[in-house]
Amino acid sequence: MPLPLAAEPLPVEWSNWRWQLRHRLTRLEELERFVRLTPEERLGIAAAPGLFRIGITPYYAQLMDADHPSCPVRRQVIPLVDEAVTSAGEFEDPLGEEALSPVPAIVHRYPDRVLLLALDRCAIYCRHCNRRRLVGQDDGVIAQPELERALDYLRRTPAIKDVLISGGDPLTLSTEKLEWLVSSVRAVPHVEIIRIGTRVPVCLPMRIDAELCAMLRRYHPLYINTHFNHPKELTTEARAACERLVDAGIPLGNQTVLLRGINSSARILEELFRGLLRSRVKPYYLFQGDPVWGTDHLRTPVACGIEIMDQLRGRVTGMAMPHLVIDAPGGGGKIPIGPNYLLAWGVEKLTLRNWEGRVVEYGEPRERDCRCPYDEVWLRE
Ligand SMILES: *Cc1c(COP(=O)(O)O)cnc(C)c1O
Repeated sequence: MPLPLAAEPLPVEWSNWRWQLRHRLTRLEELERFVRLTPEERLGIAAAPGLFRIGITPYYAQLMDADHPSCPVRRQVIPLVDEAVTSAGEFEDPLGEEALSPVPAIVHRYPDRVLLLALDRCAIYCRHCNRRRLVGQDDGVIAQPELERALDYLRRTPAIKDVLISGGDPLTLSTEKLEWLVSSVRAVPHVEIIRIGTRVPVCLPMRIDAELCAMLRRYHPLYINTHFNHPKELTTEARAACERLVDAGIPLGNQTVLLRGINSSARILEELFRGLLRSRVKPYYLFQGDPVWGTDHLRTPVACGIEIMDQLRGRVTGMAMPHLVIDAPGGGGKIPIGPNYLLAWGVEKLTLRNWEGRVVEYGEPRERDCRCPYDEVWLRE
C-alpha cells in the first residue's frame, strides 16, 4: 500500500525555502504520511515534547525510506523511545560550553578562536544534537541584545582571529540579518577568518540561493563547514547547493558524526567522503558521539571509529580522510584519536606499520637541532 504522499505531485512552493521551514513535519499525523511508523518511533514521538523537539523539512522527509526503520535519514530525525533514557556519563551540556561562555552567545575555549551562537533555531532537529539544551527552545535565548554583547566581546578581545558562527543554524536567518552579523564580525580588525557551521545544504538546499552566495562572497576569507552523515543525503539538490557555495569562492568542509547503525561502517563513510570530494567538499572532522542526554543508542564504541579510520587509510586519498576526534567532556576541546602506526621508537630508528600492515623502518637523521636561524631576520622584518 503506497503512502498517500507518494501519489501527490510536489507542491509549486517546494523550492521556496521559507515554505519548507513553515511546512516542517512536527506531529505524528504528519509523519505518518511519509513513513510507516514503528511502535518505538510512536513512543519516541509521544515523548519528544518533553525531551527535544521534532522538526523535519518536507525536502528531507521525502528522503526517508517509508518502510525500513533503519533508514539513515529516518533515524536522524524521528526519535526512538530510547531518547527518554539518560545513561550514566551523559550530560545536558556535554562539552561544558556554559562554563566557557564569557557572554551568553559566545563559547571561548581556545586562545585564538570562538564559537558565536547566532540563534537557537535549526532547519531540522537531529536526534544526535549535542546542543539540545539550547537548540529548538525557540524562546529567544539569543536575541539582538545578546548578539550585540557578543560582537562587543569580539571587539575587545584582540586574541580572537577566527570566529565560528554556529547556533542553531545561521543559514536559516534572513539574508539581511545574516549579512548584518557577518559584516559586523568582518568589521572587527583582528578577526582574520570567519567560519559558518550549517546543516542547510543537507536539509534545506534551496536556501543556498544566488542572493545568499552573492552576499557571503563579499566577506571573504569565509569558510563553511556542513554536516553530511550519509551518502543518501548527497542528492542532486544537496550537491548543487554545495557547488554554488564553492563557486562563490567559499571553501567547504564537512563534519560527520559517527552514528551507530546509521553510518558506522567504512564502506558507507568511504562512499560519503568520496561523494563529498566530488562536490569539492573536504571531509574535516569525524566526531565520536558526544555524551549528551538520551543518545546512548546512537553512540558507537570508540574502537569502531578507530577501526574505520584504519580501514580507510590507503584505500582512499588523504584528501578524503577527516580527523577522528573526541570532543572532551567538560570543555577540554577536540582530541584526535586514531589507529597506532608507530610500533617502536628507538633513538636511531622508528618501526612503523603502513596501511596494509607491512612493517617499515625509518632512520632518524644524525643532526637533531631544529632551530630555524633565519627566523631572527624574519621576525625583525
Ligand atoms: C570545535 C570548536 C572550535 C573550532 O575548532 P577547530 O578545531 O578550529 O575547527 C572552536 N571553539 C569551540 C568551542 C569548539 O567547540
